[in-house]
Amino acid sequence: MDVLIATHNMKKRAELHRILEPLGFHALLDFECGVILREVEETGKTFAENALLKARAGCADSMMPCIADDSGLCIDALNGEPGVYSARYLGEDTPYAEKMRLILERMRDVPAEKRTARFVSAVACVFPTGDWFTVEGVCEGTIGDAPRGDNGFGYDPIFMVDGRSFAELSAEEKDAVSHRGRALRALAEKLDRFTVSC
Ligand code: IMP
Repeated sequence: MDVLIATHNMKKRAELHRILEPLGFHALLDFECGVILREVEETGKTFAENALLKARAGCADSMMPCIADDSGLCIDALNGEPGVYSARYLGEDTPYAEKMRLILERMRDVPAEKRTARFVSAVACVFPTGDWFTVEGVCEGTIGDAPRGDNGFGYDPIFMVDGRSFAELSAEEKDAVSHRGRALRALAEKLDRFTVSC
């Protein structure tokens, strides 16, 4: 099934593409469909609301089934921040190295057992028929003491799972446990119930 992936984040787009293809989706980018994705203002209060806003806009612009992810890092010691504001946190144009430095600084006195955090990904799927659904994936972990690793993107270097940061995992290792991998596998299962041909 052909689906349009609605995101402007190239790293996220690469992850969505590589997870969706083996699940049987032909994941197309906007320029591959002759579509220009508009910027969508993320006014939702939840990951699912924002994912739906993006997928609805992509579907309306392309008249194709459209998948969008809204995701972020929720840190318990920071009252769930950055949460749905993960991309905009501490300034949209602030480099991630600086965002992570500031987070680690804020968490300097937080002991190991209180450094719990989770990545959350809500994925929305919207069809030209008007049908839609959302799924969610969560990956539990902790915030490390310092950035580690060079792979991945965003906050990966400070998010630790089983003693390694997301940025120290290969793409396959990350996809197997990540919030986005879990959400997209749930999406593939749920789509079996839809009989939409595209
Ligand atoms: P949005 O869903 O495009 O609004 O932005 C999600 C933001 O959450 C990204 O820009 C990253 O800052 C962060 N994020 C989401 N998923 C990941 C991930 O897998 N690794 C690192 N950071 C992530």
